[in-house]
Amino acid sequence: MLLLNLREQVLQANLDLVRRGLVLSTFGNASGVSRPDNLMVIKPSGVAYDQMTAKDLVVTDLHGKVVEGTLRPSSDLPTHAALYRAFPSIGGIAHTHSEYATAWAQASQPIPCFGTTHADYFHGPIPVTESMTDAEINGEYEANTGVAIIRAFEHRDPVSIPAVLVANHGPFAWGSDAAKAAENAWMLEAVARMAYFTISINHNARPIDKALHDRHFLRKHGHNAYYGQPGTKT
Ligand SMILES: [Zn+2]
Repeated sequence: MLLLNLREQVLQANLDLVRRGLVLSTFGNASGVSRPDNLMVIKPSGVAYDQMTAKDLVVTDLHGKVVEGTLRPSSDLPTHAALYRAFPSIGGIAHTHSEYATAWAQASQPIPCFGTTHADYFHGPIPVTESMTDAEINGEYEANTGVAIIRAFEHRDPVSIPAVLVANHGPFAWGSDAAKAAENAWMLEAVARMAYFTISINHNARPIDKALHDRHFLRKHGHNAYYGQPGTKT
């Protein structure tokens, strides 16, 4: 069987999403990519999480063609594939309908950075895509969802802001691997929830200053990061 380690990582990432309460019913999927093989591993469609095993996952190429697997892949496969092609530095993707992030997506509002929890993970507001046109929806809908995300990142760095809100739909998050993508999906939900409370308490709440935002993001990421222990990635 191909990519056993990656299959196991992607299985765990999918289970992480469930454990963290980010999956409503079966609305959630995680994937991971092997760059040397140009192959990705994704959750199968409609399999109960408590019965899913690594061998149930589906291996495809980066255009979504199934290479190994007997089950149908997640219907969001074309979105994942489009992101792997467009963002060569990412190694994993997680999609959920977690409630607070989805509420911001449904409102088509970017999530402002109101505090350092957000700044630790995302170097800027969480962007929201433009609504898709009827032609995009009636055409290759899932692939076009990827196109809408890529458009939202035309002038943004997907490594510095590893998440997006798809308008009227929900969040996608990504990271260096599937585990990191699932963690970013979890953090995204936390900051979406906190941002909602922040503006409920104070309608006039303002995003944090650039200096504080930069300080928190850059102490954890990038060349001069000093958060955590040397040699460990946090
Ligand atoms: Zn969805």
